[in-house]
Amino acid sequence: MLTLGGCDPEPARPAAQAAEEVAFATSRVRMVREQIATRGITDGRVLAAMARVPRHEFVPVGGRSLAYEDGPLPIGHGQTISQPYIVAFMTAALDPKPGDRVLEIGTGSGYQAAVLAGLVAEVYSIEIVAPLAQRAEADLQRLGYGNVKVRAGDGYRGWPEAAPFDAIIVTCAPEHVPQALVNQLKAGGRMMVPVGPTDGVQELYLLRKRPGGLETRAVLPVRFVPMVTKGPPG
Ligand code: SAH
Repeated sequence: MLTLGGCDPEPARPAAQAAEEVAFATSRVRMVREQIATRGITDGRVLAAMARVPRHEFVPVGGRSLAYEDGPLPIGHGQTISQPYIVAFMTAALDPKPGDRVLEIGTGSGYQAAVLAGLVAEVYSIEIVAPLAQRAEADLQRLGYGNVKVRAGDGYRGWPEAAPFDAIIVTCAPEHVPQALVNQLKAGGRMMVPVGPTDGVQELYLLRKRPGGLETRAVLPVRFVPMVTKGPPG
């Protein structure tokens, strides 16, 4: 017997999904144009990466419609995925090169790691909240970001077995630059790190490891969640 599928609700699902993906891609292009390029980010590789990575896949399902809006979003456990502009700004300032090995502190959703994954050779990312680390690792794997390694642990210690790194990006705010991270940076390496009090405005610093010491440049006032030494309860 011949069964026609035209009225079957199942075949409609892939079409709806495809339409949703197109809508997300359109929002993403608009996000890059209106929130990032207009604010002065000109690095073509970074803009292309921001236009490519599906940010909606890194936010909880209920927040997907807001995934391409101009702000941070909650990802559970009291943490947030950073505003797209901040991700783009930090990525561009880090000056990622195709052969680089990069360490990220504060995996969160895994979104920043995914953006970097398309721009460098390897990304190592540490998250202190174990369930977030597990979820980010699973999402990154599901989406095919095979060059990102995630570890649940305390970023203050860095990732000594994989050091030294060409660049380090810290996406939570310590009160002082952690010395272990400076030690794990290659000579000439770059570090982006927001430094400051937990309840106030922090300053985003671009550091460069020079023979005579750290070259330090404050680049932007920001507000990040604190870099803690013990994960929050729950
Ligand atoms: N980069 C993330 C956003 C990070 S929010 C993204 O793209 O989604 C900051 C993250 O830093 C939070 O998930 C928080 O749990 C984590 N964090 C705070 N202190 C930490 C530490 N000492 N080591 C590792 N991660 C830490």
